[in-house]
Amino acid sequence: MNGDCLFCLISQRQAPAEVVFEDDKVMAFKDINPKAPVHLLIIPKKHISSLNDISEKDKELLGHLILIATHLAQEKNLKETGYRLVINTGPHSGQQIFHLHLHLLAGRHFSWPPG
Ligand code: 5GP
Ligand code: ZN
Repeated sequence: MNGDCLFCLISQRQAPAEVVFEDDKVMAFKDINPKAPVHLLIIPKKHISSLNDISEKDKELLGHLILIATHLAQEKNLKETGYRLVINTGPHSGQQIFHLHLHLLAGRHFSWPPG
């Protein structure tokens, strides 16, 4: 827990968010400024700044994060139409919040390559 980190505060329910899923390791909530009809953020409760800081011991946690994203996609009937999972990392990606998070985006067509 990093008291200066917004997503740590959200994960501890010390800052507000529209939480859609939570277990002992991860939390999923709606993005405050959605870029698509469905835009969820899935975070580990453990503070990890970015993919640049993961290590061998985080393997299971990261797998769990993706698994939960697919469960949420299933729950929202997105499996047929599809969805995009994004992890921005560092300045060129536009990462704004330095607590690792997986974006689950869906509900419209996404261009490729991304802008
Ligand atoms: P990044 O650019 O770091 O990959 O994504 C950060 C995301 O967090 C952005 O999509 C932004 O809209 C979202 N965000 C920023 N502040 C808040 C907040 O206070 N609450 C929620 N729910 N989302 C936030
Ligand atoms: Zn944090």
